[in-house]
Amino acid sequence: MLTANDNRAAGSAADNRGADSVAALARESYRGIALYSTPRGRCSVDLSDNTNLWGAPPAALRTLAAVRDEDVTRYPVAYEPALAAALADYVGVSADMIACGCGSDDVLDSAIRAFAEPGEVVCLPEPSFSMIPVFARTNGLCPVAIPLTRSFDVDVDAMLETGARIIYLCSPNNPTGGALPRRTVEQIVENARGLVIIDQAYAEFGGDSFTDLASSGRPVLVTRTMSKAFGLAGLRVGFGIGSPELIAEVLKARGPYKVNALGERAAIAALDSDRAWVDERVDEVVANRSDFRAELAKRGFASLESSANFVLVPVDDCAATASRLERAGIRVRALPGLTGIGDAIRIAIGPWEMMQRCLDAMVASA
Ligand SMILES: *Cc1c(COP(=O)(O)O)cnc(C)c1O
Repeated sequence: MLTANDNRAAGSAADNRGADSVAALARESYRGIALYSTPRGRCSVDLSDNTNLWGAPPAALRTLAAVRDEDVTRYPVAYEPALAAALADYVGVSADMIACGCGSDDVLDSAIRAFAEPGEVVCLPEPSFSMIPVFARTNGLCPVAIPLTRSFDVDVDAMLETGARIIYLCSPNNPTGGALPRRTVEQIVENARGLVIIDQAYAEFGGDSFTDLASSGRPVLVTRTMSKAFGLAGLRVGFGIGSPELIAEVLKARGPYKVNALGERAAIAALDSDRAWVDERVDEVVANRSDFRAELAKRGFASLESSANFVLVPVDDCAATASRLERAGIRVRALPGLTGIGDAIRIAIGPWEMMQRCLDAMVASA
């Protein structure tokens, strides 16, 4: 408590009271939630966020350069039917099976809100996508994390035993990189009590596609994104695939106008005209990923098998390794104390020149 006798300057005491009362007014369940933090400043080789390191797709860039006045002044069409149609064509479903969002983060957040009442359980593997426990808490739900098995598989029985209202799976999984076997996913889908979300943000880079399960008659939402293989992370376009009834519930929770008009136009252009460009980049990722892992192994670093556009490398002290690499102009993601793994760094796969610089810096810093 601050009093009039407090020895601070009167102005700063008043400011502090303001901060205290905001903290007291904010939802109590939000107290443990921190703002998402990303590294600041430029770095010559940024391998920290798994985006497309070759750049943006050319047709999308041309569309953005030709933006007209009405693309900016008018509202887009609510729920983006043209984008949904282009995405539906890309994944081979009908347009009423697509919900777009401001990144797939928005779709995940909306689905979690749409399919569980406050206090219910969202079950997720650990380690997995760090935003899921945050989305659970901001929607008043309880995240329950089930550690991956020793072979980095999902613990099917333990996940089902939670009786969760929502089970989240990620394949290929961030940050481990592993893809889930079809049988594992099917067992969860067949026996889950509520919604099963399958996050396939990295589907283009490997593993099975689970889009077919969205038509299985069970409540399944597959999420995908334009942020990774398609190189449009800055435009924030993601989507979910589910039955038309399920998609309508997700859109209700999401609300209208969540995809901006420029993001929508650029994404449609990329889906119409840049697929071959994306396929070539994906082929290069797959080739560089296996060469990079082999080169890491020669230098004494064992990395986890990956079906994504990144590899996870266990290290003794991830903060020390990451800051040594940063000084050499290479940024990676430091992941301290991962369950079952310990400290690790996650390195995105890009053009070979970047990977070579990373390898050189790893050895110099080891
Ligand atoms: C990057 C990522 C996403 C989503 O990103 P958006 O840019 O919001 O589409 C979703 N899930 C996982 C596992 C990711 O790594």
